[in-house]
Amino acid sequence: MKKILVSGGAGFIGSHLCTRLIKDGHKVICLDNLFTGSEENIAHLKGNPHFEFVLHDVEFPYEAEVDEIYNLACPASPIHYQHDAIKTIKTSVLGAINMLGLAKKTNAKIMQASTSEIYGDPIIHPQVESYWGNVNPIGIRSCYDEGKRCAETLFMDYHRQNGIRIKIIRIFNTYGPRMLPDDGRVVSNFVVQALRNEDITIYGSGAQTRSFQYVDDLIEGMVRMMNTEDEFIGPINLGNPCEFSILELAEKVIELTGSQSKLIFKPLPHDDPRQRKPDITLAKSKLLWQPAIGLEEGLRRMIEYFGKYRS
Ligand code: NAD
Ligand code: UDP
Repeated sequence: MKKILVSGGAGFIGSHLCTRLIKDGHKVICLDNLFTGSEENIAHLKGNPHFEFVLHDVEFPYEAEVDEIYNLACPASPIHYQHDAIKTIKTSVLGAINMLGLAKKTNAKIMQASTSEIYGDPIIHPQVESYWGNVNPIGIRSCYDEGKRCAETLFMDYHRQNGIRIKIIRIFNTYGPRMLPDDGRVVSNFVVQALRNEDITIYGSGAQTRSFQYVDDLIEGMVRMMNTEDEFIGPINLGNPCEFSILELAEKVIELTGSQSKLIFKPLPHDDPRQRKPDITLAKSKLLWQPAIGLEEGLRRMIEYFGKYRS
C-alpha cells in the first residue's frame, strides 16, 4: 500500500484517479481548493479510512509524508482558466514548485498532468513528443499553455538538479462523467445542449479538429506511466488518436441523442488550435497502452450520465 497525493483530486479527472487508486488498495490524500472541483465528485470516497480530503490551494506549500504525487491542480476549461488568468499561471507555476518541493522533502515520485496545449496551434500533425510547439506567449490562452510549459520546465530542472523522480504526461482532450454541465468544453456543452434540444454552439466553421479520449482510458495510461522504471520520465502523449472535426462531433451527438437541436455558428475564440491529434507510438511501446473506448461508446456513456438534462 502506497500513500499517494492527488492535487486537483476533486476535479473531473482527479476524482476518477482517486477512485482508481483507492480501488488499487492505496491511501489517498486529495488536495483541492474546489475552484472547479466539488466535494460531490468525491462523495463516494468520503468515509473510506484510506481516503482524506484536504481543502488546500497549491499556490501554498503543503507537507505530508507521501510516496507518490499526481499534480493535476489547475482549471482546464478555457472559460475557467481565463476567468482569472493570473491565478491560473500561479496555480501551474507555484503549484509545480510546491509539489516538487514536497517530492524533494519526502523523496516521492511525482507526475505532472501536462497537456496537448503545450503544442499550441501545431504545425506538425499528428503531434509527437519531440515537437516543441507553436504557442502564442501573449494571448488569452497563454496563462494556461505557458503555465503548463513552465511547469514541464520546472519538472525537468528539479529532475536534473535535484534528482527528483518525475513523470510528465501530455493529456489530449478528455471527456467523461463528472464534467460539469456548464464546464464550457465541447463534449459536455454539445451533449447537454442536445439533450435540452437547445442550439448547438459551433465556434468558427467547425472544421477545426480534436481527438477525444474517454476518461477511463486516460486513468489507465496515467497509472501505467507512474509505474514505469524511474529512468523513463516522458514526456508522453496520452490521448485517443481518432480525430474528428467539431462539426462531425456535433452531428454524432445529435444522432446519438435523437435531438431536435439546430447548429448555430459563433465566432472562433482567439488562438483556437486548428487541429490536434496525438501520436501515441511512445505510449504503445513503453506502456503497452492504447485507448479502448471509441467516441461513439464514450458519447453513449456521457449521454447516460447527463440523462437528467433531457427535455
Ligand atoms: P477540472 O477543472 O475538473 O479539475 C481541476 C481541479 O484542480 C479542480 O478540482 C480544481 O478545483 C482544482 N484546482 C484548481 N486550481 C487549484 C489550486 N490553485 N489549488 C488546488 N486545487 C486547484 O479539470 P480536469 O479536466 O479534471 O483537469 C485536471 C488536470 O488535467 C488539469 O491539470 C488539466 O490541465 C489537465 N488536463 C486535462 C485535459 C482534459 O481534457 N480534461 C487535457 C489536458 C490536460
Ligand atoms: N467549441 C465549440 N463549441 C463549444 C465549445 C467548444 O465549437 O460550445 C470548440 C472550441 O472552439 C474548440 C473545440 O471545440 O475548437 C474544443 O474546445 P474545448 O474547449 O473543449 O477544448 P480545447 O480548445 O482546449 O481543446
